[in-house]
Amino acid sequence: MTQITPQPGILQIAPYQGGASHVAGVSDAVKLSSNENPFGPPEAACEAVRRSAHGLHRYPPTDHGALRAAIAEAHGLDPARIVCGVGSDEILHLLCQAYAGPGTEVIHTEHGFAIYRIGALAAGATPVEVPEASRTTDVDAILAACTEATRLVFIANPNNPTGTMIAPEEVRRLADGLPGTALLVLDGAYIEYVEGDDGGAALVEARDNVVMTRTFSKIYGLGGLRVGWGYAPAHVIDVLNRIRGPFNLSAPALAAAEAAVRDAAWVTRCRDENTRLRAWLAEALAGHGVPSDPSHGNFILARFADRAEAEACDEYLKSQGLIVRRVGGYNLPDCLRITVGDEAACRRVAHAVGQFRGGAR
Ligand SMILES: *Cc1c(COP(=O)(O)O)cnc(C)c1O
Repeated sequence: MTQITPQPGILQIAPYQGGASHVAGVSDAVKLSSNENPFGPPEAACEAVRRSAHGLHRYPPTDHGALRAAIAEAHGLDPARIVCGVGSDEILHLLCQAYAGPGTEVIHTEHGFAIYRIGALAAGATPVEVPEASRTTDVDAILAACTEATRLVFIANPNNPTGTMIAPEEVRRLADGLPGTALLVLDGAYIEYVEGDDGGAALVEARDNVVMTRTFSKIYGLGGLRVGWGYAPAHVIDVLNRIRGPFNLSAPALAAAEAAVRDAAWVTRCRDENTRLRAWLAEALAGHGVPSDPSHGNFILARFADRAEAEACDEYLKSQGLIVRRVGGYNLPDCLRITVGDEAACRRVAHAVGQFRGGAR
């Protein structure tokens, strides 16, 4: 028996399961399992990556100055309060490493994003799961769960995989009610899909206990390059910069993200198309007896009668070359999360669910 063991908590982590991308024997499978943008990144981002190939022998900048300036300009923010990471996942992990640890608690919600629990356990902290109200963040339940040991409260708004979100006044009420030792982390991975919402940026600026995280993996179509960022009070930025790797982001990733964030027209186009197709798909599924909550993201959480029906539908969709996401690991065994693809993909999903439900009756 080896005496070499990892820190407490680490072996409690169930390894993260990514969305599947292949179906055996199917060549034209459509991947709708990871909430990727079906239209990909803006062309300017691809061009920036090609140009960056000429300087691959050089280390990238450590301060991400150009990218932070571009983000600040695009969103009207203070560049000094932005920190960039290897996906927003890295920012979430750094927050756990910096503020949580043995003897402390990290709050996440019943159907919250998997990384919150993983980050808490990796830091040796105790994850605390709080109930939601009809698959929606419940501010009162979170406030009731806070203790002297609470250090971090994670909510995604809109949340993945539920697609639901809470109003800015509710977010503010949550920030107001937290104990003085706790930091509220607003994960805005899908906020660009919500027109006119700042993701909590103004709240970050008005307080000392709120952090917002954002990503280039979703609407910007750059999941393969791994770039995310956080907007936080100066004291938090200072802490995160002490522990992040000095060269955490590669030069091609920095260049692509900078080009992408300057392309506001791309974001608008992708958001409008998502809004249109999401409404169409939700209505088509409802017409086949498969309801969903109004989604604010680029995916729909389709609800079935029970786990058996959800899994049977998943198998049928797979046989039709359509890869969606099972969400039993999110305490939603009777649901499937379906990314809003392009128009052809949405029509294929609606048709296949219709065939499945027709056959079921
Ligand atoms: C996809 C997603 C992220 C983004 O992760 P990256 O590391 O930036 O790719 C963060 N939070 C939620 C809720 C997500 O669904």
